[in-house]
Amino acid sequence: MISTQKNYSQPHLVSLPVNHKRPSLTPGKYVKIGTILSQDDKAYSTVSGKILRYIQQKDTNNQVKNHIVIENDTLNKKDDYVNTLSLKDLIDRYFVPTTTQEQLNTLTNQKLLIDLIFFDEPFVTLDGKFLENFKDDLIETLETLYRLYAFSECVILVKEDQAELINQTVSFPLTVKSVKPEKGIDFSYTMINRTFNQALINQSSYNYLRTESIMKLHEMIRHHRPSVLGRLIIEGDAIQSPTLMIVRVGTLFLDLKRIVGGYTTKNGLTIHKNARVLNQVITHDDFSISHDLASLYIQEHREREVYECIACGRCNTKCPAGILPSKIMHAVEHDIYLDRMRTDLCIECGLCSFYCPSKINVMEFVKKGKALIGGKHDV
Ligand code: SF4
Ligand code: SF4
Repeated sequence: MISTQKNYSQPHLVSLPVNHKRPSLTPGKYVKIGTILSQDDKAYSTVSGKILRYIQQKDTNNQVKNHIVIENDTLNKKDDYVNTLSLKDLIDRYFVPTTTQEQLNTLTNQKLLIDLIFFDEPFVTLDGKFLENFKDDLIETLETLYRLYAFSECVILVKEDQAELINQTVSFPLTVKSVKPEKGIDFSYTMINRTFNQALINQSSYNYLRTESIMKLHEMIRHHRPSVLGRLIIEGDAIQSPTLMIVRVGTLFLDLKRIVGGYTTKNGLTIHKNARVLNQVITHDDFSISHDLASLYIQEHREREVYECIACGRCNTKCPAGILPSKIMHAVEHDIYLDRMRTDLCIECGLCSFYCPSKINVMEFVKKGKALIGGKHDV
C-alpha cells in the first residue's frame, strides 16, 4: 500500500540514453532542456547544465547503450529552438506517450479516450487524493488539446467511486464513464477496442492516453517545453517505503532507492517495469528513469521452488503470449514432455510471476522449459 508521495525533480545529475553521440556535444559543453543529444533519435536533454561524460549503461530494456551524463544546474533553461516552436509543433516534435498502447495522432474529428484508472490494490490510499489534485490540470490539458486537434468527443474512464470528481463544465464534448476495471494488460486493450470499434484489431488509428501522458502534456503546455518530469510508482515487498514519486527523466534509480529507504532484503531482486500495463522484467538496478516508465514493482527474487500452486489459473489468463505457464511449470517439475506447450513463445515479461497469488516465480519454470526444449539441460 502506498501512502507516501515525494518529489525528486532536481537530481544532481541525469543519465540519458543516446543512439549516437552528436560530435559537437563533448564533455564540458553546456546543454539546455530540449537540446537534441543524438544524431539519429529523439533523445533530448531533460535539464540545463554541463555534459560530464559518456558512459555505457544498461537501460530499462536491459540493453547496453551509450548514455550521456549531465550535471544539472537546476536553472531549467530551455533550448532556443524550443522557444521558436508553436505549441502544436512542440507537442508533435517532443511528445512521447508513456506506453506503447497510447497514441495522440494529429487527425481531427477523432475520439479521445483518457484512462484515469490508477493502479491496483496496493495503490488504494492515494489515487482518489491524486485525482482530486490533478483534475484541474487534466481539464486544462483537454481544453488545449481540443483547441489544437478538435477531437469529436472525449471519453474519460474513471473508477466508480471517483466519477463524481470529474464534474466540471467544459467546452468540449465529454463523456465520463465509470468502470470497475479488471486490472491487467488486457483492460486497456478492451477499452480501446470498445471505444474505437475494434481499432486494435483493424489497426485503425485512435487517440488513447493514460494519466502519466496527460501529466506530460500538461507540463509541456504549462511551461512550453519538452516533458522532463514523470510520475513513478515504486512499490513491492522488497521496498522499505512504497512511494509515489514525481521524478525527472534521467534520474538514477539508485538515487531514488535511497529516498524510498532502500531494500528490505540483501538477496537478489526481481524488478517489474510497468507491471500492470505491459510488464517487463528489468534484470539490474543500475538504470536511469526513462520516458516510458510508470511503475516499478520490486520483489525479492524467488528461485524455482513450487510453493503452493492453488491452480487459480491467473498466470494463464494474464500471459500475453497465450501459453499456459502453470501447465509448463508442472511439466518442468515432473519431467513431463514439453512439446506442444509452445514455451518458445514466452517473451519473458514476468506477468505470470507478478500475478501469482502464491508468489511462485512461474517465469523461471517457463524459462527452464524453453531451455530444455532448445536442448540445453544445464539450467
Ligand atoms: S513470462 Fe512468459 S509465460 Fe510468463 S506471462 Fe510472460 S510470456 Fe507468459
Ligand atoms: S498464478 Fe500461481 S497459483 Fe495460480 S495457477 Fe499460476 S502458478 Fe498456480
